[in-house]
Amino acid sequence: MADRTLRGSRMGSVSYENEYGAEIAPRQGADYRCLRGHTFTVPFSEEAEIPGTWDCRLDGTVAERINGPVTEAKKVKPPRTHWDMLIERRSIADLEDVLAERLDVLKARRSNTKSA
Ligand SMILES: [Zn+2]
Repeated sequence: MADRTLRGSRMGSVSYENEYGAEIAPRQGADYRCLRGHTFTVPFSEEAEIPGTWDCRLDGTVAERINGPVTEAKKVKPPRTHWDMLIERRSIADLEDVLAERLDVLKARRSNTKSA
């Protein structure tokens, strides 16, 4: 039964939005622009937390929000790399010590295998 229901409505082609009932719930629109320049508005309920990105409806690429303050804050923060995390825990001097230590271990191991 559930199977038949799914087959009857193709994903994406049918909108379940009620375009006539303007009074259903307070709404806010979020505008997005994708990498190829398509712009579109996604309606959200007023309590909804609006995401900073949304998939473009035309080509599926990631579209960034162009109105609202949320994106501003997110853009400033670059993604953290493994290096960033490492450097938060260790200083360069620490890392040089660790490197020297490891090199000694490797050298010792190499001379061991040579003599063996
Ligand atoms: Zn697009």
